[in-house]
Amino acid sequence: MQRNQHKVSMDALVSLCKRRGFIFQSSEIYDGINGFWDYGPLGCELKRNIRDAWWRDIVHRRENIVGLDSSIIMHPKVWEASGHISSFADPMVDCKACRKRFRADMLCEEQGVKLIKTEKGFELPVGVKCSACGSKELTAPRAFNLMFKTFVGPVEEASSVAYLRPETAQGIFVQFANVLAVARQKIPFGIAQVGKAFRNEINPRNFTFRSREFEQMELEFFLKPGTDAEWHTYWVKERMGWYERIGLPAESLQQYVYGKDELAHYASACVDVMYDFPFGMQELEGIAARGDFDLSQHQKFSGKSLEYFDQETKEKFVPHVVEPSAGVDRIALAILCEAYREEWVPSGDTAGDVLEAEPGKPVPAGYELRTVLRFAPCMAPIKVAVFPLLKNKPELVAKGREVFDLLQKRWNCFWDVTGAIGRRYRRQDEIGTPYGVTIDFDTLTDNTVTLRDRDSMKQIRLAIAALPDYLSATLD
Ligand code: ATP
Repeated sequence: MQRNQHKVSMDALVSLCKRRGFIFQSSEIYDGINGFWDYGPLGCELKRNIRDAWWRDIVHRRENIVGLDSSIIMHPKVWEASGHISSFADPMVDCKACRKRFRADMLCEEQGVKLIKTEKGFELPVGVKCSACGSKELTAPRAFNLMFKTFVGPVEEASSVAYLRPETAQGIFVQFANVLAVARQKIPFGIAQVGKAFRNEINPRNFTFRSREFEQMELEFFLKPGTDAEWHTYWVKERMGWYERIGLPAESLQQYVYGKDELAHYASACVDVMYDFPFGMQELEGIAARGDFDLSQHQKFSGKSLEYFDQETKEKFVPHVVEPSAGVDRIALAILCEAYREEWVPSGDTAGDVLEAEPGKPVPAGYELRTVLRFAPCMAPIKVAVFPLLKNKPELVAKGREVFDLLQKRWNCFWDVTGAIGRRYRRQDEIGTPYGVTIDFDTLTDNTVTLRDRDSMKQIRLAIAALPDYLSATLD
């Protein structure tokens, strides 16, 4: 499948997401709350498909990776040990003229300069201005901790402060010993977790890309010290392959390899998987070789041993770790951007040449405009739509129900009896349903149906009994 030549307009995508029930603004009836989003009926199916595909690939398909579901609020010492309390902060600046607030590094980046790191913190290069009003009167950058604070129990005092987790990873590290004791695993092995994370981002933006509440899929892959580089390379390759399988082609992705001077002091390698969003190349996932930093820190702060005993070599060591850490919401947004097309298709829903619509130009004669989400079938929220040709013919509706019941046992299906058949196809194109099945008068006599393909719009005639196997070849 060719990529969009004309970049997707984010306005068009955001509008489709709302109109068709993928993504809504959180608390919209109260005018929303910045940085929070709700996923509607189709959006939550899309996210589910992403999570399921990840879990299948990372946990179910491998013998040496197990799952965990840890709590969102943990002992505050976890965040002391991990370094989040002291240093999980972004540099923030305020415009003294219009009072807008920015992340200093991003403001600099937009203006083609780099934020200056000093011994005490950060400094803005000369000439940086407010991107809202143009004033050069900006405050000095100061660190802003991104963790959301709350209180556990009825008394709001220092001793009851707790944090909403800013990543799922630490839950894995603090349960390392318990999981090791029960999972009958030998190193190398991994623990995977999917769940919500919270960051009080200074500037949430680009739709769901930078949110304050989001979902992560993280794997901690524990290994023998010295094998870090080889496992890091392995995981970068594995993860790139997975993105292609869920519908993000290689040419839409890039790897950003961290230079030695960009790495955290404990890390030996880091690669970000980047996607070509309409608003630029941006990170979907970070894959870092973190050494033994996290386990060693928790060992130190908790006083409990987190060492591993190798039965074969009789060695004792704190395992090193490679961490692929991905965001469900960013992947969902990338999949939507990649799938979104405005096309000129032959009028009357006949198969033929499909042209990419050119923004601002009139639709050529004999063609009509369609909006379609060309999802990879495994990501489509609805897999098959079933259409009895006419609503007022009970025998067609009854036969349609039979087909629907047959298919619904295996896939998420949609039932639609209203409107002209062409219009029904278009409604499904717009939400990315790969197949439509139409029940007509011939079905009543020969038990065959019309199967329509979303991308080519080709129609074939197929026996009802043959449908499950035929669909299974692309849907499973
Ligand atoms: P960024 O540099 O974009 O702030 P990060 O490097 O801080 O991201 P990580 O801490 O590596 O991100 O988190 C792992 C993954 O979690 C990211 O690759 C991303 O997919 C997701 N993620 C992080 N922050 C957010 C956010 N504010 N909104 C949505 N997803 C996020």
